[in-house]
Amino acid sequence: MPSGSASLIWFRKGLRIHDNPALEYASRASAFVYPLFVIDPHYMEPDPKAFSPGSTRAGISRIRFLLESLADLDLSLKKLGSRLLVLKGEPSEVLIRCLKEWDVKKICFEYDTDPYYQALDNKIKNYASLAGIEVFSPVSHTLFNPADIIEKNGGRPPLSYQSFLKLAGEPSWASSPLLVELSSVPPVGDVASFEISQVPTLKELGYVQNDQEELTPFRGGESEALRRLRESLSDKEWVANFEKPKGDPSAYIKPATTVLSPYLKQFGCLSSRYFYQCLKDVYKNVKRHTSPPVSLVGQLLWREFFYTVAFGTPNFDKMNGNKICKQIPWNDDDELLAAWREARTGYPWIDAIMVQLREWGWMHHLARHCVACFLTRGDLFLHWEKGRDVFERLLIDSDWAINNGNWLWLSCSSFFYQYNRIYSPTSFGKKYDPHGDYIRHFLPILKDMPKEYIYEPWTAPLSVQNKAKCIIGRDYPKPVVSHDSASKECRRKMGEAYALNKKLNGVVSEDDVKSLR
Ligand code: FAD
Repeated sequence: MPSGSASLIWFRKGLRIHDNPALEYASRASAFVYPLFVIDPHYMEPDPKAFSPGSTRAGISRIRFLLESLADLDLSLKKLGSRLLVLKGEPSEVLIRCLKEWDVKKICFEYDTDPYYQALDNKIKNYASLAGIEVFSPVSHTLFNPADIIEKNGGRPPLSYQSFLKLAGEPSWASSPLLVELSSVPPVGDVASFEISQVPTLKELGYVQNDQEELTPFRGGESEALRRLRESLSDKEWVANFEKPKGDPSAYIKPATTVLSPYLKQFGCLSSRYFYQCLKDVYKNVKRHTSPPVSLVGQLLWREFFYTVAFGTPNFDKMNGNKICKQIPWNDDDELLAAWREARTGYPWIDAIMVQLREWGWMHHLARHCVACFLTRGDLFLHWEKGRDVFERLLIDSDWAINNGNWLWLSCSSFFYQYNRIYSPTSFGKKYDPHGDYIRHFLPILKDMPKEYIYEPWTAPLSVQNKAKCIIGRDYPKPVVSHDSASKECRRKMGEAYALNKKLNGVVSEDDVKSLR
């Protein structure tokens, strides 16, 4: 049993040293600090039945990203005189055992708005309060505390970006410097009877994948996040002139945006507050710069917007029982869903994006728009929740609030209502990439298809298909639907559903929705 007061810092997201108030507080006036990460079977149990390698909830690329982030955090903690302790099990059970056995007086963890963590954190807070343990749970994953914004708005979340901006203003901490450097962390105390493991490898966790195989080019960890941030910000003109809608969704060698989302989100390797301050520093030193919603600061504010609405909306991740979600009689078709998920729609632009999702776990925002629109109100008329699930599992930046928010948006279920504006699965990508290099990269079966046919290979004469060594219907599928007729039908059904939602003033029951099928 260690003597002297002990604190425990529970890492979940927030896998970083910089701007980490929970770590800083745990380190203050403690003789020992236990930095703990719990491998949660809820997320990490391998699922051999899943359609691609990984667990039920996370694809292999995100799990690898997490393990890399943990290894990097362990290295940084070692430099500060500490190390990361990794345990496996249901987090609240593991935590409570640790608090007891290590005689912890203070438990610190970053505040989290995701429902899963809210429930978990309440269990820990309840136990701590009974055991007389101090809890410190600061807001540092987001720029604002979503609860503050909701309170300012009379208890309801703002439902438009502009109203969010008006309420939010400048974050309260923005004028004072953040604690970016921590010089040391008190040593780890006696770990008693616990068997502490090193950060495990994919193999050790039971994923059959060879540890050498790396599909996504993005490496996890705070060091990589800060390197990437520096690289993105080094081109001040690029930062100052950034306009999101002008980016090229097909750019994959050098993506048109920062690709900081996996670092910001899933694992908090990068502090959004630090990113925000760095952007503001760049703006101070240039003559002019773009503004929200299209600027880079504007992108961070989109993130805040979705966090706020998600936090303040019951059943945000569902159609049923979600007051801000239009009730739409989506079709149910497992074969079409599988074709979309497994990149077999026969539309190369859509399939290439879905391969990028499966292999890299990241795609440009407009590419996400195209596949989300195609699945829902554009072509297949399938439920946005099904697409959300696929994204949630495969994205390396998978984020509960942002993912659900964007699926609500793209399916015209909430926030955005111009359902007549549908992305063409053939001409949209062509505007950016007429030669089809993006498609050739992610769908090598089409690499020799002439550019005239690469977006619509089923229109190529058989002689051309033969020469390209890709027969449509054999080597690559025919389109699962005809875009012209499918999109027309989608518009019609959306029109009907909107009319019913309007007539019933938004209060539409499941039976009303069924009556439209
Ligand atoms: P940049 O343009 O460099 O933006 C910087 C940061 O701003 C991003 O890292 C991100 O944190 C934030 N941001 C940018 N765009 C948005 C946006 N539209 N909404 C909220 N925050 C934003 N983003 C996720 O982080 N996780 C998700 O699970 C997710 N799911 C999505 C699902 C769909 C259907 C769609 C259309 C978009 C989704 N996005 C998601 C939003 C967006 O596509 C990504 O944040 C962005 O592409 C990440 O790339 P980046 O870091 O280069 O972005």
